[in-house]
Amino acid sequence: MGNPLAALPAVHRVLAVATMARERARHGSAAVRQAVREALDGARARIARGEPAPTPDEVAAEAQAALAVRAAAAYPEVLNATGVVIHTNLGRAPRPGAAAPGYLALEYDLGGGGRGERLGPVTERLTRYLGCEAATVVTNNAAALVLLLAAHAAGREVVVSRGELIEIGGSFRLPEIMTAGGARLVEVGCTNRTHLDDYARVIGDATAGILVVHRSNFTLDGFVAAVGLPDLVELGRSHGVPVWVDQGSGCHLDLVRWGLRPEPTVRQLLAAGADAVLFSGDKLFGGPQAGIVAGSRTAVAPLRRHPLRRALRPDKCALAGLAATLDCYLAERPEDVPLYRLLAAGDGALRRRARGIAGRLRHAGLAAGVAATRAVLGGGTTPDQTLPSWAVTIPGGAAEAALLRRGGPPVIGRVEEGRVVLDLRAVFPEQDRLLAAAVAAALGGPR
Ligand SMILES: *Cc1c(COP(=O)(O)O)cnc(C)c1O
Repeated sequence: MGNPLAALPAVHRVLAVATMARERARHGSAAVRQAVREALDGARARIARGEPAPTPDEVAAEAQAALAVRAAAAYPEVLNATGVVIHTNLGRAPRPGAAAPGYLALEYDLGGGGRGERLGPVTERLTRYLGCEAATVVTNNAAALVLLLAAHAAGREVVVSRGELIEIGGSFRLPEIMTAGGARLVEVGCTNRTHLDDYARVIGDATAGILVVHRSNFTLDGFVAAVGLPDLVELGRSHGVPVWVDQGSGCHLDLVRWGLRPEPTVRQLLAAGADAVLFSGDKLFGGPQAGIVAGSRTAVAPLRRHPLRRALRPDKCALAGLAATLDCYLAERPEDVPLYRLLAAGDGALRRRARGIAGRLRHAGLAAGVAATRAVLGGGTTPDQTLPSWAVTIPGGAAEAALLRRGGPPVIGRVEEGRVVLDLRAVFPEQDRLLAAAVAAALGGPR
């Protein structure tokens, strides 16, 4: 008996397999060589465990499979059947507008052919839509808050209620953001109750502003009290102190029409006298990732001049998407914003769609059914409230859900009581056929 490893094919013999030429054209020769080496390493370990040596063809096939996995889209598009409409892990609000533009007149004046103002088209639309004097845009809302603090409150005090010192996902903790912006946090009130007096007592020469923070992902219930914005504005004015509102999700439409509790819109907060309102572009606004600051000239101008702004400037796709989203609101056609198209789907339509998909899946041999469900807005918008929805259900558990996630396109559902639940609230009607096909391919037929 010789050394069993001697039967292992050499790298050059695997590379000579006919299919490898195509792989080299697709992935480059360095990547193919590396994949072959890794496949041979695996084979070596198996031989050591007593398995027979693979043929060059078998090693080539293994390398090919590894190359295909590596070449898969870095951020595959998925079908969101979770029932969470603003799903942070799936990119929050569904993408507005067309695909990524190539060149566009970003800082270019088509009239004169000279340099244009990069943010001009978006800020013009923002001020018109929100009815405020000025606005600016940065990469996201956390950045907007840091910039606001750096521009107005560096080395000074900012007053915040203890009932609003939030932590949201992805390591956004309000006290830490304050520090990052160079401001000193002055906490007032108690967790459950803060009164106007609490604010009044701490305002002094070192006070740069009062910050109101949307609680986002939690609610306070029971023996609670908070100060209304008009009272805070009046207090601020009497001391010459601005009031800023970090509104987070930034409500724009009356949520009551979807059976949710009302929230003040950004427009209403500005009308009530907030000096600046900050909100995310990709939560309830339904646009791309961005942080928007809207308010008075006095509040916004220092942000425009601050050196940090250059470091936080949004990219062209975000600006184009924001402008397109604002155009929907300005034309009073919010249902053209993809997010609101999802929310507008009625109970009857969702049930019909669920039945249609379930029918197709039964045709493919799956024991699919339908169920009335509750979906959520998500994204830290309305944490304790749900929306009615309908889902397709398939018997199964974690294993079936995993197969769906690995399918093409990946389908992300949830598992509940021995069933995979595919909620249609965050699925667009034109995706129904694709959803049925992906589920049938992943779970149907012999496995
Ligand atoms: C979501 C949220 C943020 C952070 O917004 P990003 O756009 O994710 O940076 C900040 N403040 C509040 C109140 C939020 O809800």
